[in-house]
Amino acid sequence: MKGKDILREIIGTSGGEFYTPIPKGYKPGKTKYIVITGSVMSGIGKGTISSSLCKCLQDRGLKVEPMKLEAYLNVDSGTLNPFRHGEVFVLDDGYETDLDLGTYERMLDKNLSRDNFVTSGRVYQTIIEKERSGKYLGRDVQFIPHVTGEIKSFVRELAVKSKADIIPIEIGGTVGDYENMFALEALRELHYEEGPENVCFVNITYIMQPNSLGEQKSKAAQLGIKRLIAMGIQPDVIVCRSESKLNDKIREKISLNTNVPMENVVGVHDVSNIYSLPLALRERGFDEKVLQTLELNKKFVSNGNTGLKKWVKETSVSGKGKKLTIGIAGKYTGSSDTYISILKALEHCSFATNHKIGIKWIETTKIEKGDESVEKALKGVDGVIVPGGFGVRGIEGKIAVAKYCREKNIPYLGLCLGFQIALIEIARNVSGLKGANSTEFDPKAKHQVIDILPEQLDIEGLGGNMRLGGKDVEVKPGTITAKTLGNANKIRRRFRHRFECNPEFIETFEKAGVVFSGKAPKVDIMQIFELPKHKFFMASQFHPEFTSRPLKPDPMFLEFVKKAAE
Ligand code: GLN
Repeated sequence: MKGKDILREIIGTSGGEFYTPIPKGYKPGKTKYIVITGSVMSGIGKGTISSSLCKCLQDRGLKVEPMKLEAYLNVDSGTLNPFRHGEVFVLDDGYETDLDLGTYERMLDKNLSRDNFVTSGRVYQTIIEKERSGKYLGRDVQFIPHVTGEIKSFVRELAVKSKADIIPIEIGGTVGDYENMFALEALRELHYEEGPENVCFVNITYIMQPNSLGEQKSKAAQLGIKRLIAMGIQPDVIVCRSESKLNDKIREKISLNTNVPMENVVGVHDVSNIYSLPLALRERGFDEKVLQTLELNKKFVSNGNTGLKKWVKETSVSGKGKKLTIGIAGKYTGSSDTYISILKALEHCSFATNHKIGIKWIETTKIEKGDESVEKALKGVDGVIVPGGFGVRGIEGKIAVAKYCREKNIPYLGLCLGFQIALIEIARNVSGLKGANSTEFDPKAKHQVIDILPEQLDIEGLGGNMRLGGKDVEVKPGTITAKTLGNANKIRRRFRHRFECNPEFIETFEKAGVVFSGKAPKVDIMQIFELPKHKFFMASQFHPEFTSRPLKPDPMFLEFVKKAAE
C-alpha cells in the first residue's frame, strides 16, 4: 500500500483509533516534507544547516516553506528573555518567534508568518480550546493520537496555504529530550501516512574530537541516532558536524550502525563563512540525496553551482574597504545571539560597502554605576547603535551614551528603545526639561516625554500584546531620512513596543532641532527622527534590523555605516 492509500484509509475511518484532521483542499503528495532533527547536543548549527539546505532547494527552483516546531511550552517567543534564549524575532504578521526564523527569512529573502513557527505551547493551547468547545466529540483527549494529530494538522495546513513544493520542518532541541517527543512521534506518523517518497528524515549529529585523543569519535553520534531509530524513525540522510574534516572511518561506522548508506552520510566541518555553507552542502551532494529520497531530483535538477557561487561572492567582504568599530550599547552583552539581527544587518552593510565591521560591546550598566566613563567606553568607536530593550537597568548609561554621541558628532543609530533614549536625552539636555523620562522607567516622571501608547493602557498580561509587526510609516519629504530611503514616501517596517514619543512634546522636540521624519499614517505616533545638523543621528521606533537581507541591506543601517566610515 502506498502512502496516499494509507492516508485515504485513515481519513475514511471515522470514530476509530485514528485522529488525523486533514485540512480542506489538502492534496497528498503535492507537498513533500523534510524532517530535520538534531542528535548528541544542541548548538551544532541545526538552524544554519537547515536554512542552507533551504537555500540549495530554492536555488533549484523549488518553492520552499520552512517550518520550525519549537519544543517549549511558551505559546510564542514573546516573553522569553533574550539573554537566555537569544533575540525575539518579529515577523511581519506580528508573531514573535525564535531567532531561527530570522535565519530562514534572510537566507531565503522571504517573509514568513505564524504558520511557519509552532511551539508545543501553541499546540496544547489549541487542543485545550478545542476540548472546551466540545470538538473532540466525547473522546478522551490523548497524547496519541490527538496531540500528534494536531501537530500534523499544523504541518498540513501550511502545505495547503503555501502550496509549497517542499516543507523542511526543523525540530527544536535534541533527540532524547522529553519536550520534543510528541513532535517526533507526529512526524513518524506523517511519514507512515504520506509514504516514504514524501517524507525525508535528516539527522544532524555531532562527531566529537576530544583534545586528549586528537581523533574523531562516533559513539555519541551512534547512540543519538539509535535513539531516533528506536522511536521508529529511520534517517535517510545524516549530516555529521565536526571540527575538522570528517574521516572515512567515521563515515563507515555511522553507516554500519544506522542503516544509512555511506553516500548519504555527509560531513560538514566548521566553516568561517556561513554563507559558503549552501555551496559546500551542494558539493557534498546533500540536497541531491534529500531530493533522491523524495523522488524530486529529476524534476528539480541542479543548475550546476553557478547560482550558489555567485551568492558566496556577493556575500563576501573584499579587503578594499575600511576597518570600522561599531559600538552597541546594550545590557545583554554576554551573548551575541541577543542582538543577532543587528549583527546580521551590519554584516549586510559590509557586503555592500566592503568595510570590515568589528563590534565593541558597551555595557551600559557599568557606565550607569560609574564603573566606567563614557569617554573610555566609546574610545575608538566610529558609530554607536542603541538597540531595543525593556526595563530600567542600564537606562541612565544609555542616556549618557546618546548625549556623548550627540555632543561629539559621533554617528548614532537608535532602534526602538534607542529612539526613546535619544529623545529623553534631548528633552533633558537641550530643552532643559530636568527629570524628563519615560513612564516605563519612572511612572511619576516630571516630564513624561515617552509614554505608554493609548491602545496599551487597558491591556493586561505580557504575551503577544505589544504594538507588533509590520506597519506603514509615512516619510517626510525633503529630510535626510527620505533621501536615505531613496525618496520613498511610505515604507513598511516591523515594530515591537508599548511606549511612544508623547505627542504633547512634539513641538518642544521640534524647537530643540529634532525633525520627525517618519510617522504612522493618520495618527500622531512618531516613528523616525533625525538631527539634521549632526554627522548622522537617526532613530526609529521600529526595528529595521528585522527586514535587512544579505543582498538588500537596510538603508538606515547602510547610511549609518557609510557615515561612520567617513
Ligand atoms: N521598552 C520600550 C517599549 O516598550 C522599547 C521596546 C523595544 O525596544 N523593543 O516601548
